[in-house]
Amino acid sequence: MANADFLNEINKRRTFAIISHPDAGKTTLTEKLLLFGGAIQVAGSVKGRKASRHATSDWMEMEQERGISITTSVMQFEHNEKLLNLLDTPGHEDFSEDTYRTLTAVDSALMVIDCAKGVEARTIKLMEVCRLRDTPIISFINKLDREGRDPLELIDEVESVLKIQCAPMTWPIGMGKRFKGVYHIYKDEVHVFSPTHGGKIATGEIFKGLDNPGLKELMGHDFEDFFEELELVREASTPFDIDAYLAGKQTPVFFGSAVNNFGVGELLDAFAEYAPAPQPRQAVEREVLPEEDKFSGFVFKVQANMDPAHRDRIAFMRICSGEYSQGMKINHVRIKKNIQVGNAITFQADSRKNVEQAFAGDIIGLHNHGTIQVGDTFTQGEALKFGGIPYFAPELFRKAVLKDPLRMKALQKGLTQLTEEGATQLFKPLRNNDLILGAVGVLQFEVTAQRLKSEYNVECVYDNAPITTARWVSCDDPKKFEDFKKKAHDSLAEDGGGYLVYLAKSRVNLSLTQERWPEITFSATREL
Ligand code: GDP
Repeated sequence: MANADFLNEINKRRTFAIISHPDAGKTTLTEKLLLFGGAIQVAGSVKGRKASRHATSDWMEMEQERGISITTSVMQFEHNEKLLNLLDTPGHEDFSEDTYRTLTAVDSALMVIDCAKGVEARTIKLMEVCRLRDTPIISFINKLDREGRDPLELIDEVESVLKIQCAPMTWPIGMGKRFKGVYHIYKDEVHVFSPTHGGKIATGEIFKGLDNPGLKELMGHDFEDFFEELELVREASTPFDIDAYLAGKQTPVFFGSAVNNFGVGELLDAFAEYAPAPQPRQAVEREVLPEEDKFSGFVFKVQANMDPAHRDRIAFMRICSGEYSQGMKINHVRIKKNIQVGNAITFQADSRKNVEQAFAGDIIGLHNHGTIQVGDTFTQGEALKFGGIPYFAPELFRKAVLKDPLRMKALQKGLTQLTEEGATQLFKPLRNNDLILGAVGVLQFEVTAQRLKSEYNVECVYDNAPITTARWVSCDDPKKFEDFKKKAHDSLAEDGGGYLVYLAKSRVNLSLTQERWPEITFSATREL
């Protein structure tokens, strides 16, 4: 590929995720973006979406039953000559590690805020994660068709709680029953609100300029109030500054109603125009530029049985540099092995297909046969290691117990594959054949049991495990380590990656053991 074409491919990519507190409207906005991007033709209401196979951004029955997003997937679509890769993230907080890892794979984010609720707990947490890499964020204040809080107050809250400057791009005219539309501050035009549930993209009437007689007629008495408010907004807020946005210091703010497809077009246009193209990535050894000709990428997510029609395990890789082409050989840096990739896949909104070519910013799915872990780096030979979010020591533990003892092999296989995904961790004690699951939230245990049943046909229940916390153990002195392993044998287990873990009955037990073995490192995280 000619150099100019290669650069063009990279520069047109926009890789992003949507962050929000559950219920703010992330799923709805995802669907509407896909609709505007032409990736899907029909969209129902959100309920329709969750029941339909078309716009599904996750595949699990559980998600449909509970109405929460659990899995992560990737959707690619085009808008205004840009190629957008939207990485979906689980909404439920029990799956937050998954979300954090996904955020390491994006170049920017969209933040959705419910206009009645303002900044919520998860919004704060996710913002902290974005700040680790100064990820640029565009904000969408949603549900203006309902009574919410004063927009100026919301802007204030975002600025003071999330500690990021706001630059209003549009401004709402009324809200709830009196919601008339949004005024685009930079285009100087009013987009009139018309509620359109469902799949149609109604552009709606647009009034150019604020002294438009048609607009005054439409707004009646409200016009003067709006005009005054706008003056206030102009005085009180900072103008949009692309550099401040790209540096993660300022967020452009849009208002709208996702469920009504309203304000989404403005948001998407701005996103395609301003959001950053694939950015350089920091590896432990050096910074890697997207336009380097040698291929590199890292795995941020592993998922088993993603699509019931293809019962396989997929490792999601973010390409950091170079070009993927079908059949190429890449080096699996951790295990120092070359593999030939003939059938990597990409993801459309409602389908997947073999990818022939992919570039920095793209996410490709590799078929995983148990050798790929979250955090693995792939290159064309150079020993690079991209840093990521580590594994955290779980705080909840359960022992998996089979209902039918003859299904032991299937249980082991199911647990091994499901825990590869990283949401739950599997520990195998050295002293017996127990299968101990660790997680940071109870929902993960439930999901695992459900999936064992539906994907592996294994019925398993849980017993309490007498474990309070876990620590990864290591030691520079092999002799001391052997000593420790012998003495602490009954409390040690191997995790899914084959690393040694100390399972502590209680905090007291852990500190006593740490005191007794000062040479041993007890780590609450396992670096990727
Ligand atoms: P998520 O949990 O962030 O993915 O939120 P959803 O997209 O599932 O939306 C949560 C609820 O808010 C659903 O009942 C949606 O129909 C509703 N919703 C989403 N956008 C809007 C909106 O613009 N206006 C109103 N009134 N409701 C909305």
